Amino acid sequence: MARKAQKRIKHVPQRTCIGCRSVLSKREMIRIVRTPQGITIDPTGRADGRGAYLHNIRSCWEQAVKGPINNALKVELTASDKARLAEFMTTLPEGTPLQDGQTKTDEVEGTAS
Ligand SMILES: [Zn+2]
Repeated sequence: MARKAQKRIKHVPQRTCIGCRSVLSKREMIRIVRTPQGITIDPTGRADGRGAYLHNIRSCWEQAVKGPINNALKVELTASDKARLAEFMTTLPEGTPLQDGQTKTDEVEGTAS
């Protein structure tokens, strides 16, 4: 592995959508967080607790609640968590996850912790 001179990288926080696994800048994502009260949407992105990020696209949420969300948050969703997420989902636009020329990282194996 040849090393090139370090590139100057603009520091934009990047997060992986747990639904479609695309990597995007944080501002394009919605954070969900595990709190003692359950899984909630974190509009500020700064709530304490283990968090995960999702596109603001319904299809990604539908995908995530099928399983990835449990891994990401190290928790089993309760019925009320699911209901809360489902309710939030209805406010999201349906759409295709790929936008802005982002490269989809389909080949990611395993789960980042
Ligand atoms: Zn996504």
